[in-house]
Amino acid sequence: MTAVIDGKAVARRVRARVAAEVAAAFPDPATAPGLATVLVGDDPASAVYVANKRRAVREAGMRDLHRSLPADVTQSQVAAVIDELVADPGVSGILLQLPLPPGLDPAALIDRIPAGKDVDGLTTHSTGLLARGEPGLRPCTPSGVIELLEAEGVKIRGAHAVIVGRSTLVGHPMAELLLQHDATVTVAHRHTADLAALTRTADILVVAAGVRGMIGAEHVKPGATVIDVGIHRTEDGLAGDVRTAEVDGIAARVTPVPGGVGPMTIAMLMVNTLRAAQR
Ligand code: NAD
Repeated sequence: MTAVIDGKAVARRVRARVAAEVAAAFPDPATAPGLATVLVGDDPASAVYVANKRRAVREAGMRDLHRSLPADVTQSQVAAVIDELVADPGVSGILLQLPLPPGLDPAALIDRIPAGKDVDGLTTHSTGLLARGEPGLRPCTPSGVIELLEAEGVKIRGAHAVIVGRSTLVGHPMAELLLQHDATVTVAHRHTADLAALTRTADILVVAAGVRGMIGAEHVKPGATVIDVGIHRTEDGLAGDVRTAEVDGIAARVTPVPGGVGPMTIAMLMVNTLRAAQR
């Protein structure tokens, strides 16, 4: 039988741990860690993501310092808002919600956030700290995957981990984190030859390609742990990159979509906001 990893339950535990730590370390709510989410424009999916993040912040006893900007804002106006949040000692963490409306350069704006407030872990500086294995805030989705693997007692050290996808947001930092946990890591991407032959060698298979249902029975080694990062909105609700029903009986464990990696991303954002405030 394949165990279905309950990401919601693990995320709940992580968030409860953060809330308890916030209550103990910041008895005065006025000085509790503060997260400034910055939402530019009115993309409906982004609005939902930001609303969920803000709710989680408040539930953890932290301060919600959200900023909304209109879609026709200029690069320098967004830069000015970020600079103001950077200078404000009451702001522990800054998260610029992506994607931005056309015409704005996300990389240049993200890089205005200093590593200490970079709760998304996506600036050039944070990426460098991760690559060098130095302390810093790590991207939330890959660190959520590590937290899930550890919560499930999956042995990472010495395991062969294959990651499908090499994005800045997920695949690349995922490879760095698994390496730092002593896995042997292979990164696959859209030019990888014979993907199934490669993924069948994985003890831990992390799929973050953004291609609905691309991974099935033929890609999975018996006893593997399969982590599905993909999220796709379909008529029947959310779906992932893995054909979960097909890997049942082959994989030892699999994350569902929804209810797997997704909830962990927000939980790790709460961890990062607390850590940013404690620095
Ligand atoms: P992306 O498009 O930036 O990167 C996709 C990567 O997959 C690329 O490196 C590409 O080379 C690779 N790829 C694409 N097609 C492939 C194929 N057929 N075979 C092998 N490799 C292939 O996407 P991303 O931002 O990394 O996101 C990936 C998925 O994860 C998306 O579905 C996204 O919605 C989801 N996501 C989920 C969370 C979460 O919280 N669960 C967070 C971020 C992203």
